[in-house]
Amino acid sequence: MKFHYPELLHGGDYNPEQWMEQKDTIWKQDMQYAREAGINTLSIGIFSWAYLEPEDGVYDFSWMDEVMDNLAANGIKAVLATPSGARPAWMARKYPSVLRVTENRLNNVFGGRHNACYSSPDYERKVTEINTRLAERYKDHPALLMWHVSNEYNNDCHCPRCQERFRDWCRARYGTIENLNRAWWNSFWSHKYSCFEEIISPSSLGEEENVAHLLAWRRFSSDNLVRFFQTEIAPLRRITPDVPVTTNLMNTFSGLDYYALGRAMDVSSWDNYPDWRGDERDLKTARISAFHHDLMRGVGDQKPFLMMESSPSSVNWHTINPLRKPGTILYQGLQAIAHGSDSVQYFQFRAGRGGSEQYHGAVIDRTGTNRTRTFREVAEVGATLKQLKGVAGSETRNQIALLYDWHVRWAVEGAWMLHRHHERYVETVRDFHIELGRLGYGVDMVDELSDISGYKVLIAPMAYIMRPGFGEKLKAFVENGGTLITTYVSGYVNDELLTYMDADPSPINEIAGRHVDECDALDDRTFAHFVWNGKKYRVKEVAELSTLTTAQTLAVYADRFYATKPCFTVNGYGMGRCYYIAVRTDEDFLNDALRYILNEANLQPILPKLPEGTWATERYQEDGTRFVFVQNGTHEKKTVMLPKAMKDAVTGKMVYEQLEMGELSVAVLMDE
Ligand SMILES: [Zn+2]
Repeated sequence: MKFHYPELLHGGDYNPEQWMEQKDTIWKQDMQYAREAGINTLSIGIFSWAYLEPEDGVYDFSWMDEVMDNLAANGIKAVLATPSGARPAWMARKYPSVLRVTENRLNNVFGGRHNACYSSPDYERKVTEINTRLAERYKDHPALLMWHVSNEYNNDCHCPRCQERFRDWCRARYGTIENLNRAWWNSFWSHKYSCFEEIISPSSLGEEENVAHLLAWRRFSSDNLVRFFQTEIAPLRRITPDVPVTTNLMNTFSGLDYYALGRAMDVSSWDNYPDWRGDERDLKTARISAFHHDLMRGVGDQKPFLMMESSPSSVNWHTINPLRKPGTILYQGLQAIAHGSDSVQYFQFRAGRGGSEQYHGAVIDRTGTNRTRTFREVAEVGATLKQLKGVAGSETRNQIALLYDWHVRWAVEGAWMLHRHHERYVETVRDFHIELGRLGYGVDMVDELSDISGYKVLIAPMAYIMRPGFGEKLKAFVENGGTLITTYVSGYVNDELLTYMDADPSPINEIAGRHVDECDALDDRTFAHFVWNGKKYRVKEVAELSTLTTAQTLAVYADRFYATKPCFTVNGYGMGRCYYIAVRTDEDFLNDALRYILNEANLQPILPKLPEGTWATERYQEDGTRFVFVQNGTHEKKTVMLPKAMKDAVTGKMVYEQLEMGELSVAVLMDE
């Protein structure tokens, strides 16, 4: 099901149960302020379980009825949550199995949030009961727009039930204990199991060094959570089959394969909290946010996603929580839209007077009024989004895909390898993303299970693990004319983390026309160099030494004991090419190499010659209407040269040739 609403959504988390005792005044004022701020959606019920079910089996929806009716009466849609992100104290007391067990085998006690055991039959039953009642009660309510399932799902549990499920997961994956022993290489360290009953979760109390065991546990924990999500949404699917389902994600959070979760929901959504500082550091922050937005869109199969949360002001949980410079909130919102979001939503609509998030930014802050700068800036976002109504539902049409895969990350980060557990996978993928932006290209994020056949270029940095079918998919992609760019440590191991050998070669070897002999780890005082097209570049951290079979050399090392060995190669394969970058380098090489390769692949940037610190993205409506978003991520004014006159979609005015951009801003342009 594709989520579609005819306007861009503007709103945020609304927790009116904090004001139950003043609802005659505060709740009324909330609706008035929401209208003033141009808010058309509010997310409710996220942490409301103690108010919806004050005692086991005793439900009270009367207040929620009133909230839903208020929203409907004010033309505001509800993103209605299931309350499983936090649970009532009575539940923890009565059903202790709902609480998680840590890897040190300690039982959690009541409190905090997000600490449930996803294998607890009590929890599953209580969640199913309340979700069923919520769906039954509000299935025909005019305010109901979509389901917000739980909140920021995360992390694993080591209780006996989860251990038993892990063993079942192993039984299903491996069939026999001999197969598991072979896959996990348990012939080493006398780790051979004689039966599945001997298998327990990794822990610092016991086994934490067998990479295959660790990866199996991460995969199981992720699968177990996706299974729980499917259990959570079962009553919603049954009772409200036409209401889309989402759950809010946290960009590169490592504990869960977001692509797997994304495939189980209708629309991807995520919580975006950049660490804005109001100075030149914001450029990096803006680029990281751009990467996160694209990743969250990728998790949702490139459909429009939702920025479910962001702060309309500062947060209260970064190390330092500075105020946002005027204009930052508008930039933050439009940046999300530029990368494919159909919403700008905040946490939270009205700040509480106490509790853990009393100083977190809110549309209505601790003054309780609409007379604040934050409120005015939020209202400005609301007015701007109204002007951009036509963007809603539009999608990207990028020709470049960039691989970011949670299994690769788990495998690389777990590996005892070059820089033990610090292989910088996320940063490496992000570096490619940043350079694509600097060159003016839009990019789609994919994982190894994604369909890549429609792209012209696939960039797969550090694609360490070959998940089932990925090698064949890469071969077909390049054979059919695709351009593959890959790097050091790609294709080292199969899906069980067993290294490829000469007798069982990595699929990457054939496509790249070379094989790896050795790989050097450089410390922060050791560098190598190479020259390409007359320019000298630095090698840092990783230097792979290869033997070429069919590949051609583009550059060789200039120094160290591996001088003259190839470090940048290209291989013709079928109708396509594979470029192999055997070294970790600086941004200058990534930029030059991508410029060269994308030019060879005949790909044109969205806008050529963008000034430093700016980048462009595109969204298309089905009828071909195109929106070009130009971002200035710096605190300096920028002039962007346009190849033709375009129309500013916010003001309706024409922009001729020169687009003048203020600091930290987004221009939305349309073809005229
Ligand atoms: Zn558990």
